[in-house]
Amino acid sequence: MMRRHIQIIPLCLISLFVCAQENEVPDIHMDFESYDPPSTLVVPEHPLSSAKYPFIDVHSHHWNMQESDLHELVSQMDSLNMGINVNLSGRGGKILSAITHNIDSQGYSNRLVVFTNIEFRSIDEVDWVESTSAQIKYDVENGARGLKIYKSQGMFNTDSSGNRIPLNHPKLDPIWDLCGALKIPVLIHAADPKAFWQPMDSLNERWLELKLKPGRKREADDPAPWEIIIAEQHDVFKRHPGTVFINAHFGWFANDLDHLSDLMNEMPNIYVEFGAVIAELGRQPRRAKAFFTDFQDRILFGKDSYQPKEYHTYFRVLETADEYFPYYKKYHAFWKMYGLDLGDDILKKIYYKNALHIIPGLDSSLFPE
Ligand SMILES: [Zn+2]
Repeated sequence: MMRRHIQIIPLCLISLFVCAQENEVPDIHMDFESYDPPSTLVVPEHPLSSAKYPFIDVHSHHWNMQESDLHELVSQMDSLNMGINVNLSGRGGKILSAITHNIDSQGYSNRLVVFTNIEFRSIDEVDWVESTSAQIKYDVENGARGLKIYKSQGMFNTDSSGNRIPLNHPKLDPIWDLCGALKIPVLIHAADPKAFWQPMDSLNERWLELKLKPGRKREADDPAPWEIIIAEQHDVFKRHPGTVFINAHFGWFANDLDHLSDLMNEMPNIYVEFGAVIAELGRQPRRAKAFFTDFQDRILFGKDSYQPKEYHTYFRVLETADEYFPYYKKYHAFWKMYGLDLGDDILKKIYYKNALHIIPGLDSSLFPE
């Protein structure tokens, strides 16, 4: 009797009952942000939480280093096997000397180093070159190991007439030359990913980032076309061959390593660091490995935002041969990562040897031969 009753329930009702019981309503209206299924691929996995060799992060920002307790930072660095952290936010003058004083007083002058900064806004003033040069010399005497130029400076800083100050402004020429004479590198971050200037549509690889961070979207000529800002940066590199420049974020050409190779060949005084663009490398492991082989003496480890756990993905991309593993920020990369499987000689160069070569006064005893 009972059995006969069940047999007459229509099939569609049974499936509804099963779905409701497991609380699974098929989602046919999910948005792109939510769709993020864990991979079912079964392959060898080698997640890493510390680097194979001690490394120098040449692109970091710490805004309170003039007064903060540095023990926690250094113990986090130890757990990552970070030998030296380069804080690019030195700001110059009294703040920079307070930073180096605080580092010294806590006994970390071999682990934490700082670059200085200058300001462009008063570039019209008659003594701007003299006073800025004097500041840089003072900062170097107080322990600055380089100069960092922010992207905002070549994009949004304006002179007294309201004109944008380009990176290749003639009044900056003696500053770049002075850094060459003082043998300190200049790290320049110019512009942002090109996609920020492009239409925010289905063809834009940074669509999700622009949706989540709408302030990053720029009109095609706001404040200038992307190509113009990048060309101004390259003009500086070319006109000051005696100065060592670190082109931040692979110069925003990590997605076109053929072109970046041409630029590296054209401008032997530039180095690159891969802060915030490791995902571009992890999606092209074979081309990226060839680039790391070709330019093994001119690539530096950079991270930019200091988030200890995010370094793990950098180590895994550089060191392992793992396949199809996740990146940590979908809005940078909705694609998966593949390891470059770099050999020890190249790893040592990008982790520390190249930085020891161009940043003065670093403690080489922290690193293997
Ligand atoms: Zn930065």
